[in-house]
Amino acid sequence: MELYHSIIRDVPSHLGSSKPKRYDYLAQRAWEEADSFELVMARESACELGGDNQPAVNFTCVTTSAELVDRDEILVCGPDLAELPANAPFARISLLRVGDIESDDDDTEQAFRAIRNMDFVKYHIFPKGYMIRTSSESHREQVRISREAVRKGICFERIGDTFIRRYKQDENILAARVIFVTAKDADYSALLQSAKQVSLITKGLTKILEGMSTDCSVCSLKPICDEVEGMKELHFGKEKHTTE
Ligand code: SF4
Repeated sequence: MELYHSIIRDVPSHLGSSKPKRYDYLAQRAWEEADSFELVMARESACELGGDNQPAVNFTCVTTSAELVDRDEILVCGPDLAELPANAPFARISLLRVGDIESDDDDTEQAFRAIRNMDFVKYHIFPKGYMIRTSSESHREQVRISREAVRKGICFERIGDTFIRRYKQDENILAARVIFVTAKDADYSALLQSAKQVSLITKGLTKILEGMSTDCSVCSLKPICDEVEGMKELHFGKEKHTTE
């Protein structure tokens, strides 16, 4: 599963100049969740990540490489939640290691559907005082944090624990690295480009699964397949192609 490798390898170069803070995952430390969507009114807000039209980038990449995602951990690049001003630039990137999903052809379709579902975690996670508004189309994940949550000690380490605990409910996910970025000098434009590329790859996978044409000469995905290592091989492995 190499489709997202070049994107994953590029991530560290976009995170700004400060040294990231690293935290091991600890399920018991996860921030408490509400039962459903958590509304934080503007008047209760301590900080809005991506507020005032600042960047708010989000994407998720999947790999089978233990070298690229070796363990469960949280990285924080830039000021933490209690240290931020009223509005701040933001990115959250999830890198997920899954099992060898291509080893058994019968399992491939099910595994790729699982990959798509992994990204849907963000629609089903409701940390208290941490209101997430996300848009797949614009690759944005904007977050409003309540003053009460800040008073109670909310921080990225504990929110990361909450995300990883959710990810690990999916038995396909062996390890997860969640990266939070608020550094002023991070390259949010480059991260947005990565988010767009991830989206194109994932849409391509979806089309392949849906049994699209196998003629490369007329295929709308050819620009992606020419650029992304492993995409053509994936389709070649599933279908007999008429032409390259
Ligand atoms: S391998 Fe060819 S047919 Fe398959 S998705 Fe890529 S360009 Fe399209």
